[in-house]
Amino acid sequence: MKYCYECGMKLVLKELEGEGMIPFCEGCGEYRFPIFSTAVSMIVLNRDKTKILLIQQYGTDNNVLVAGYVNKGEDAETAVAREISEELGLEAEEMGYCRSEYFPKTNTLMLNFRCIVNSECLDKINREEIDKAEWFTLEKAREVIMPNSLAKRFLCNFLDNLL
Ligand SMILES: [Zn+2]
Repeated sequence: MKYCYECGMKLVLKELEGEGMIPFCEGCGEYRFPIFSTAVSMIVLNRDKTKILLIQQYGTDNNVLVAGYVNKGEDAETAVAREISEELGLEAEEMGYCRSEYFPKTNTLMLNFRCIVNSECLDKINREEIDKAEWFTLEKAREVIMPNSLAKRFLCNFLDNLL
């Protein structure tokens, strides 16, 4: 970020106690911390934790995790439950935080959760958002998830940490 998002003035670096050199707008008299989006991605599990749901979107045949942006003012856990409901028509019964990674391409901090849903039924998935959704065994999910993707790193991290 080179310019102030409020007034457009060029930002300068200024010392902020405890934080180091932070971009500062002399017009507004305010520090301008870097701005990025926050999203959640979910490892969706069935109730007995034997299967993982992967989806395909946007006309590609890449298998990825269900994901969505966190709204301003919303906590990440609410975003997880909302996305599960909106995209899959399912209810998140149990969830836990796994890990996070910054995704430079969309300037987004992705927070990965595991989430158990109330049903394996896929009749109510949002067909406008999702081309295909399919349950896989845990090891099969590892095989078929999109290679070299953030989704794959999250999934492998989850599977590798299972007891
Ligand atoms: Zn300004």
